[in-house]
Amino acid sequence: MKLLIATLAMALAGASAQAEIQFSKSVPSEQKKLLTRDMFFLANQSYPSDSKLAQMMEIGSTDGLTILNWIDNRMVRIVGEDFDIEKNISIVNQSFFPEPSATPELPTVVKTPGGSSGGGSGTVKTVMSNLGGAVYISGKMSHVMFSLKVDDSKINMTSPRLGVFKVGEGLFDTKTMIKSPVDSKMSSYYRLATLVHEARHSDGRGASAGFLHAICPSGHRFDGYAGCDASSNGPYTIEGQFLKVAVQNCKDCQPGELELMNKMIADSFSRAVAPAAQTADTSINATIISSYQLLLSFCKNTPGSCTPEQKKQYEDAIAKAQAAMQPQTAVAEAPRWDAAPEGTYPSVSRDNTWSSIYQLNAKTK
Ligand SMILES: [Zn+2]
Repeated sequence: MKLLIATLAMALAGASAQAEIQFSKSVPSEQKKLLTRDMFFLANQSYPSDSKLAQMMEIGSTDGLTILNWIDNRMVRIVGEDFDIEKNISIVNQSFFPEPSATPELPTVVKTPGGSSGGGSGTVKTVMSNLGGAVYISGKMSHVMFSLKVDDSKINMTSPRLGVFKVGEGLFDTKTMIKSPVDSKMSSYYRLATLVHEARHSDGRGASAGFLHAICPSGHRFDGYAGCDASSNGPYTIEGQFLKVAVQNCKDCQPGELELMNKMIADSFSRAVAPAAQTADTSINATIISSYQLLLSFCKNTPGSCTPEQKKQYEDAIAKAQAAMQPQTAVAEAPRWDAAPEGTYPSVSRDNTWSSIYQLNAKTK
Protein backbone atom coordinates (compact mmCIF):
# COMPACT_ATOMS: atom_id res chain seq x y z
CA MET A 1 0.00 0.00 0.00
CA LYS A 2 1.25 3.41 -0.85
CA LEU A 3 0.32 6.37 1.30
CA LEU A 4 0.85 10.03 0.63
CA ILE A 5 -0.24 13.20 2.31
CA ALA A 6 -2.49 15.29 0.12
CA THR A 7 -1.52 18.95 -0.41
CA LEU A 8 2.10 18.03 0.08
CA ALA A 9 3.63 18.99 -3.24
CA MET A 10 6.05 16.12 -3.54
CA ALA A 11 4.84 13.00 -5.42
CA LEU A 12 -1.18 8.24 -26.85
CA ALA A 13 -4.28 6.54 -26.76
CA GLY A 14 -2.87 3.01 -26.71
CA ALA A 15 -6.17 1.39 -27.46
CA SER A 16 -4.48 -1.43 -29.34
CA ALA A 17 -2.64 -2.68 -26.25
CA GLN A 18 -5.45 -2.54 -23.76
CA ALA A 19 -6.17 -6.20 -24.09
CA GLU A 20 -2.61 -6.91 -22.98
CA ILE A 21 -2.76 -4.72 -19.90
CA GLN A 22 -4.99 -6.65 -17.56
CA PHE A 23 -7.54 -4.05 -16.54
CA SER A 24 -10.65 -5.14 -14.70
CA LYS A 25 -13.99 -3.76 -15.83
CA SER A 26 -14.08 -1.96 -12.47
CA VAL A 27 -11.47 0.54 -13.69
CA PRO A 28 -13.24 3.55 -15.24
CA SER A 29 -12.32 4.07 -18.91
CA GLU A 30 -10.72 7.47 -18.31
CA GLN A 31 -8.39 5.98 -15.67
CA LYS A 32 -7.62 3.04 -17.94
CA LYS A 33 -6.68 5.44 -20.71
CA LEU A 34 -4.37 7.45 -18.46
CA LEU A 35 -2.61 4.38 -17.03
CA THR A 36 -2.18 2.89 -20.49
CA ARG A 37 -0.70 6.15 -21.71
CA ASP A 38 1.66 6.21 -18.69
CA MET A 39 2.89 2.73 -19.55
CA PHE A 40 3.44 3.65 -23.20
CA PHE A 41 5.40 6.66 -22.02
CA LEU A 42 7.61 4.46 -19.84
CA ALA A 43 8.08 1.83 -22.55
CA ASN A 44 9.52 4.47 -24.84
CA GLN A 45 12.06 5.90 -22.38
CA SER A 46 15.65 4.94 -23.16
CA TYR A 47 17.16 5.31 -19.70
CA PRO A 48 20.85 4.39 -19.45
CA SER A 49 21.66 1.60 -17.04
CA ASP A 50 21.48 2.59 -13.39
CA SER A 51 23.37 0.08 -11.27
CA LYS A 52 21.38 0.72 -8.07
CA LEU A 53 17.99 0.27 -9.73
CA ALA A 54 19.26 -2.70 -11.76
CA GLN A 55 20.48 -4.34 -8.55
CA MET A 56 17.23 -3.71 -6.70
CA MET A 57 15.06 -4.97 -9.54
CA GLU A 58 17.53 -7.71 -10.44
CA ILE A 59 17.44 -6.74 -14.09
CA GLY A 60 20.25 -6.22 -16.58
CA SER A 61 19.36 -2.85 -18.06
CA THR A 62 17.06 -0.14 -16.76
CA ASP A 63 15.51 1.14 -19.97
CA GLY A 64 11.82 1.94 -19.79
CA LEU A 65 10.64 -1.22 -21.50
CA THR A 66 12.63 -3.46 -19.14
CA ILE A 67 11.21 -1.62 -16.12
CA LEU A 68 7.71 -1.98 -17.56
CA ASN A 69 8.21 -5.70 -18.03
CA TRP A 70 9.47 -5.93 -14.45
CA ILE A 71 6.20 -4.36 -13.31
CA ASP A 72 4.12 -6.51 -15.61
CA ASN A 73 5.58 -9.70 -14.19
CA ARG A 74 4.27 -8.66 -10.78
CA MET A 75 0.85 -7.40 -11.80
CA VAL A 76 -1.79 -9.78 -13.09
CA ARG A 77 -4.70 -7.29 -12.84
CA ILE A 78 -5.52 -3.68 -12.08
CA VAL A 79 -8.87 -3.29 -10.33
CA GLY A 80 -10.87 -0.15 -9.68
CA GLU A 81 -11.41 1.76 -6.48
CA ASP A 82 -14.85 0.18 -6.09
CA PHE A 83 -13.59 -3.40 -6.30
CA ASP A 84 -14.96 -5.20 -3.26
CA ILE A 85 -12.49 -7.77 -1.99
CA GLU A 86 -14.96 -9.39 0.42
CA LYS A 87 -17.45 -10.12 -2.35
CA ASN A 88 -14.81 -11.65 -4.60
CA ILE A 89 -12.69 -13.76 -2.30
CA SER A 90 -13.25 -17.48 -1.80
CA ILE A 91 -11.41 -20.53 -0.43
CA VAL A 92 -10.21 -23.02 -3.04
CA ASN A 93 -7.98 -25.22 -0.90
CA GLN A 94 -8.49 -25.79 2.82
CA SER A 95 -5.10 -27.34 3.52
CA PHE A 96 -2.59 -25.18 1.79
CA PHE A 97 0.98 -25.24 3.11
CA PRO A 98 3.26 -23.47 0.68
CA GLU A 99 6.99 -23.28 1.40
CA PRO A 100 8.87 -21.63 2.99
CA SER A 101 6.80 -21.78 6.13
CA ALA A 102 7.89 -18.48 7.72
CA THR A 103 5.44 -15.62 7.39
CA PRO A 104 6.03 -11.89 7.62
CA GLU A 105 5.54 -9.97 10.81
CA LEU A 106 2.33 -7.98 10.54
CA PRO A 107 2.60 -4.40 11.74
CA THR A 108 0.09 -3.29 14.36
CA VAL A 109 -1.62 -0.49 12.52
CA VAL A 110 -2.19 2.52 14.69
CA LYS A 111 -3.62 4.90 12.12
CA THR A 112 -5.55 4.20 8.94
CA PRO A 113 -5.71 6.47 5.89
CA GLY A 114 -8.62 8.77 5.28
CA GLY A 115 -8.40 10.95 8.38
CA SER A 116 -6.43 14.08 9.02
CA SER A 117 -2.80 13.43 9.89
CA GLY A 118 -1.42 14.36 13.28
CA GLY A 119 0.59 17.34 12.10
CA GLY A 120 -2.44 18.90 10.47
CA SER A 121 -0.52 19.02 7.20
CA GLY A 122 -3.24 17.35 5.16
CA THR A 123 -5.15 14.17 4.66
CA VAL A 124 -3.38 10.85 4.31
CA LYS A 125 -4.69 9.00 1.27
CA THR A 126 -4.12 5.55 -0.10
CA VAL A 127 -2.68 5.93 -3.57
CA MET A 128 -2.81 2.26 -4.53
CA SER A 129 -2.70 -1.14 -2.85
CA ASN A 130 -1.68 -4.64 -3.89
CA LEU A 131 -4.46 -7.02 -2.89
CA GLY A 132 -2.76 -10.09 -4.34
CA GLY A 133 0.15 -10.21 -1.93
CA ALA A 134 -2.10 -9.48 1.06
CA VAL A 135 -4.59 -12.20 0.13
CA TYR A 136 -1.83 -14.73 -0.49
CA ILE A 137 -0.15 -14.02 2.87
CA SER A 138 -3.37 -14.12 4.87
CA GLY A 139 -4.21 -17.42 3.17
CA LYS A 140 -0.80 -18.82 3.96
CA MET A 141 -1.11 -17.81 7.60
CA SER A 142 -4.41 -19.64 7.95
CA HIS A 143 -3.30 -22.54 5.69
CA VAL A 144 -5.92 -21.97 3.05
CA MET A 145 -5.56 -21.01 -0.57
CA PHE A 146 -7.75 -18.09 -1.50
CA SER A 147 -8.97 -17.22 -4.92
CA LEU A 148 -9.85 -13.74 -6.05
CA LYS A 149 -12.57 -13.29 -8.64
CA VAL A 150 -11.86 -10.44 -11.02
CA ASP A 151 -14.63 -10.00 -13.59
CA ASP A 152 -15.11 -13.46 -15.11
CA SER A 153 -11.84 -15.07 -14.05
CA LYS A 154 -10.74 -16.55 -10.76
CA ILE A 155 -7.13 -16.06 -9.73
CA ASN A 156 -5.83 -18.71 -7.33
CA MET A 157 -3.46 -17.00 -4.93
CA THR A 158 -0.49 -19.35 -5.00
CA SER A 159 2.22 -16.69 -4.69
CA PRO A 160 2.63 -13.00 -3.78
CA ARG A 161 3.70 -12.61 -7.41
CA LEU A 162 0.05 -12.63 -8.46
CA GLY A 163 -0.30 -8.92 -7.90
CA VAL A 164 -3.79 -7.44 -8.05
CA PHE A 165 -3.35 -3.68 -7.92
CA LYS A 166 -6.28 -1.72 -6.60
CA VAL A 167 -6.64 1.95 -7.50
CA GLY A 168 -6.75 4.17 -4.41
CA GLU A 169 -8.38 7.55 -4.00
CA GLY A 170 -5.04 9.37 -4.32
CA LEU A 171 -3.90 7.85 -7.63
CA PHE A 172 -5.87 10.16 -9.90
CA ASP A 173 -6.32 13.00 -7.43
CA THR A 174 -2.99 14.45 -8.54
CA LYS A 175 -4.23 18.04 -8.20
CA THR A 176 -4.40 17.53 -4.45
CA MET A 177 -1.60 15.04 -4.03
CA ILE A 178 1.17 16.65 -6.08
CA LYS A 179 -0.51 19.82 -7.33
CA SER A 180 -0.35 18.77 -10.96
CA PRO A 181 -3.09 18.15 -13.57
CA VAL A 182 -4.07 14.50 -13.91
CA ASP A 183 -2.73 14.27 -17.48
CA SER A 184 0.62 16.01 -16.88
CA LYS A 185 3.99 14.36 -17.31
CA MET A 186 4.56 14.75 -13.55
CA SER A 187 1.34 12.87 -12.82
CA SER A 188 2.51 10.09 -15.15
CA TYR A 189 5.73 9.76 -13.18
CA TYR A 190 3.75 9.77 -9.94
CA ARG A 191 1.52 6.92 -11.16
CA LEU A 192 4.42 4.97 -12.68
CA ALA A 193 6.39 5.25 -9.43
CA THR A 194 3.29 3.90 -7.70
CA LEU A 195 3.18 0.89 -10.03
CA VAL A 196 6.87 0.24 -9.27
CA HIS A 197 6.03 0.48 -5.56
CA GLU A 198 3.09 -1.95 -5.76
CA ALA A 199 5.09 -4.35 -7.92
CA ARG A 200 7.60 -4.71 -5.09
CA HIS A 201 4.77 -5.94 -2.87
CA SER A 202 4.56 -8.95 -5.20
CA ASP A 203 8.11 -10.01 -4.24
CA GLY A 204 9.68 -11.77 -1.29
CA ARG A 205 9.56 -15.08 0.52
CA GLY A 206 9.11 -16.21 4.10
CA ALA A 207 9.54 -13.23 6.39
CA SER A 208 10.00 -10.88 3.42
CA ALA A 209 6.92 -12.09 1.47
CA GLY A 210 4.94 -9.13 0.21
CA PHE A 211 7.53 -6.62 1.50
CA LEU A 212 5.01 -5.47 4.10
CA HIS A 213 5.37 -1.97 5.46
CA ALA A 214 6.52 -1.04 8.95
CA ILE A 215 4.86 1.47 11.23
CA CYS A 216 6.62 4.82 10.88
CA PRO A 217 8.44 5.74 14.10
CA SER A 218 7.53 8.60 16.37
CA GLY A 219 8.80 11.89 14.96
CA HIS A 220 8.33 10.67 11.37
CA ARG A 221 5.89 12.59 9.16
CA PHE A 222 3.80 9.40 8.90
CA ASP A 223 4.13 8.57 12.59
CA GLY A 224 1.78 5.69 13.45
CA TYR A 225 0.89 4.80 9.85
CA ALA A 226 2.10 1.66 8.11
CA GLY A 227 3.87 3.92 5.62
CA CYS A 228 7.54 3.01 6.15
CA ASP A 229 9.86 0.16 5.18
CA ALA A 230 12.17 -1.76 7.50
CA SER A 231 14.25 -2.84 4.49
CA SER A 232 16.67 -0.93 2.26
CA ASN A 233 15.15 -2.37 -0.94
CA GLY A 234 11.47 -2.05 -0.12
CA PRO A 235 8.60 -0.49 -2.12
CA TYR A 236 9.39 3.11 -1.15
CA THR A 237 13.13 2.88 -1.81
CA ILE A 238 12.64 1.17 -5.16
CA GLU A 239 10.11 3.78 -6.33
CA GLY A 240 12.49 6.53 -5.15
CA GLN A 241 15.33 5.01 -7.16
CA PHE A 242 13.06 4.71 -10.19
CA LEU A 243 12.14 8.41 -9.91
CA LYS A 244 15.81 9.27 -9.57
CA VAL A 245 16.57 7.55 -12.89
CA ALA A 246 13.56 9.29 -14.46
CA VAL A 247 14.58 12.76 -13.25
CA GLN A 248 18.20 12.30 -14.31
CA ASN A 249 17.02 11.52 -17.81
CA CYS A 250 14.20 14.02 -18.12
CA LYS A 251 15.65 16.36 -20.73
CA ASP A 252 12.54 18.50 -21.09
CA CYS A 253 11.66 18.79 -17.37
CA GLN A 254 11.14 22.40 -16.28
CA PRO A 255 12.73 23.72 -13.03
CA GLY A 256 9.41 23.49 -11.18
CA GLU A 257 8.96 19.91 -12.38
CA LEU A 258 12.47 18.94 -11.31
CA GLU A 259 11.76 20.38 -7.89
CA LEU A 260 8.58 18.35 -7.60
CA MET A 261 10.35 15.17 -8.70
CA ASN A 262 13.11 15.77 -6.15
CA LYS A 263 10.51 16.20 -3.42
CA MET A 264 8.84 12.93 -4.42
CA ILE A 265 12.27 11.23 -4.32
CA ALA A 266 13.11 12.68 -0.90
CA ASP A 267 9.74 11.53 0.43
CA SER A 268 10.29 7.99 -0.88
CA PHE A 269 13.77 7.68 0.59
CA SER A 270 12.60 9.04 3.97
CA ARG A 271 10.38 5.95 4.34
CA ALA A 272 13.22 3.45 4.89
CA VAL A 273 13.66 3.14 8.64
CA ALA A 274 15.86 0.87 10.69
CA PRO A 275 13.79 -1.78 12.52
CA ALA A 276 14.85 -0.52 15.96
CA ALA A 277 13.15 2.78 15.24
CA GLN A 278 9.79 1.13 15.74
CA THR A 279 10.43 0.08 19.31
CA ALA A 280 11.19 3.38 21.02
CA ASP A 281 8.17 4.48 23.01
CA THR A 282 8.79 8.04 24.08
CA SER A 283 6.04 8.37 26.67
CA ILE A 284 6.90 5.13 28.51
CA ASN A 285 10.59 6.03 28.63
CA ALA A 286 9.85 9.54 29.86
CA THR A 287 7.78 8.06 32.71
CA ILE A 288 10.59 5.65 33.60
CA ILE A 289 13.10 8.49 33.72
CA SER A 290 11.01 10.76 35.94
CA SER A 291 10.13 8.01 38.41
CA TYR A 292 13.76 6.91 38.83
CA GLN A 293 14.80 10.56 39.17
CA LEU A 294 12.30 10.85 42.01
CA LEU A 295 13.83 7.81 43.69
CA LEU A 296 17.32 9.27 43.28
CA SER A 297 16.32 12.60 44.81
CA PHE A 298 14.76 10.68 47.71
CA CYS A 299 18.09 8.85 48.20
CA LYS A 300 19.94 12.17 48.14
CA ASN A 301 17.59 13.99 50.52
CA THR A 302 17.30 11.15 53.00
CA PRO A 303 20.85 10.06 53.85
CA GLY A 304 21.22 6.34 54.52
CA SER A 305 17.94 5.42 52.84
CA CYS A 306 19.51 3.88 49.72
CA THR A 307 22.42 1.53 49.24
CA PRO A 308 25.07 2.40 46.61
CA GLU A 309 23.82 -0.62 44.61
CA GLN A 310 20.29 0.79 44.58
CA LYS A 311 21.55 4.18 43.41
CA LYS A 312 23.54 2.52 40.67
CA GLN A 313 20.47 0.54 39.63
CA TYR A 314 18.36 3.73 39.38
CA GLU A 315 21.06 5.56 37.42
CA ASP A 316 21.42 2.67 34.99
CA ALA A 317 17.66 2.54 34.44
CA ILE A 318 17.63 6.27 33.64
CA ALA A 319 20.56 5.93 31.24
CA LYS A 320 18.87 3.01 29.47
CA ALA A 321 15.59 4.91 29.05
CA GLN A 322 17.44 8.01 27.86
CA ALA A 323 19.33 5.97 25.27
CA ALA A 324 16.07 4.52 23.99
CA MET A 325 14.74 8.04 23.46
CA GLN A 326 17.68 9.20 21.34
CA PRO A 327 16.94 9.87 17.64
CA GLN A 328 17.28 6.65 15.70
CA THR A 329 19.70 8.03 13.11
CA ALA A 330 22.60 6.24 14.75
CA VAL A 331 20.98 2.86 14.09
CA ALA A 332 22.49 0.89 11.23
CA GLU A 333 20.90 1.20 7.80
CA ALA A 334 17.80 -0.88 7.19
CA PRO A 335 18.75 -4.36 5.94
CA ARG A 336 18.23 -5.69 2.45
CA TRP A 337 15.37 -8.16 2.19
CA ASP A 338 15.20 -11.26 0.01
CA ALA A 339 13.16 -10.34 -3.07
CA ALA A 340 13.02 -13.81 -4.62
CA PRO A 341 9.33 -14.78 -4.71
CA GLU A 342 7.85 -17.87 -3.11
CA GLY A 343 5.04 -20.07 -4.31
CA THR A 344 3.99 -20.83 -7.84
CA TYR A 345 3.09 -18.22 -10.41
CA PRO A 346 2.73 -18.08 -14.17
CA SER A 347 5.98 -18.15 -16.08
CA VAL A 348 7.22 -14.97 -17.67
CA SER A 349 5.55 -15.34 -21.00
CA ARG A 350 4.27 -11.86 -21.65
CA ASP A 351 7.69 -10.27 -22.14
CA ASN A 352 7.80 -10.73 -25.87
CA THR A 353 4.19 -9.75 -26.35
CA TRP A 354 4.71 -6.55 -24.45
CA SER A 355 7.96 -5.80 -26.24
CA SER A 356 6.50 -6.23 -29.68
CA ILE A 357 3.39 -4.21 -28.88
CA TYR A 358 5.34 -1.33 -27.41
CA GLN A 359 8.01 -1.33 -30.07
CA LEU A 360 5.35 -1.43 -32.73
CA ASN A 361 3.58 1.46 -31.08
CA ALA A 362 6.79 3.44 -30.73
CA LYS A 363 7.40 3.08 -34.45
CA THR A 364 3.93 3.92 -35.60
CA LYS A 365 2.90 6.73 -33.29
ZN1 LIG B 1 3.03 -0.14 -0.11
